[in-house]
Amino acid sequence: MRIARFSHDGEVAFGVVEGDDIAELASHPFGPVSFTGKRIPVSDVRLLAPVLPSKVVAIGKNYADHASEMGGDVPEQPLIFLKPSTAVTGPGDPIAYPGSSERVDYEGELAVVVGRLCRDVPEGKAMDVVLGYTCANDVTARDQQKADGQWSRAKGYDSFCPLGPWIETELDIADLRITTTLNSETKQDGRTSQLVHKVPALIAYITSCMTLLPGDVILTGTPAGVGPMQIGDEVSVEIERIGRLTNTVVPRAPVGSVAR
Ligand code: MG
Repeated sequence: MRIARFSHDGEVAFGVVEGDDIAELASHPFGPVSFTGKRIPVSDVRLLAPVLPSKVVAIGKNYADHASEMGGDVPEQPLIFLKPSTAVTGPGDPIAYPGSSERVDYEGELAVVVGRLCRDVPEGKAMDVVLGYTCANDVTARDQQKADGQWSRAKGYDSFCPLGPWIETELDIADLRITTTLNSETKQDGRTSQLVHKVPALIAYITSCMTLLPGDVILTGTPAGVGPMQIGDEVSVEIERIGRLTNTVVPRAPVGSVAR
């Protein structure tokens, strides 16, 4: 199932993408799903971030080739950090380049969407709490990441967490190609088989610390090839059998002028 969140005629709803149509859900996708019977062409809706997470838990340096390009090794235990829920934005939405940074990077990542409230999940049961997977861009103000020593500001700006285009629920993520293209030029080209700490281990590790809620998102780390974006650039993260998440970089508008 491909679960999308969308707006149409001023209403926001979840739906299941079936071919060229979206079948509208009566409620949210966390639990048994039921349909309203309404079908809308995908081309007539605006796709939104497929979930509104309470938090985004991200993993640093989880591909050896990326850890190496950042001048280090993959940490023995997963290195976790948080991106605020307000960083989440949808497919086709702008990434707002803040005036306070001179280097804003893309990081294409496989995102795990949590399906139910969970804590202290053993690795062997971790897949039971997964609703599905989507594409993410862990946008990072690289200069501020280095300057601050911790990453809340560098990775926490509004719009620094594009998610989408939808959640794929039936998927074997053992070995999927993940690419990031900037203005149609391929910049990152990795495979999820290169993840050092695998998804079940990440879920066990994270939930040994904090409760995850339905809709929470885990960003699993980025492969090698990270680099800067400029205002006007179009960036796409594509994962085999999920889809493509595309956003354009714009200058950050003055405070108060952004409605979503
Ligand atoms: Mg990252």
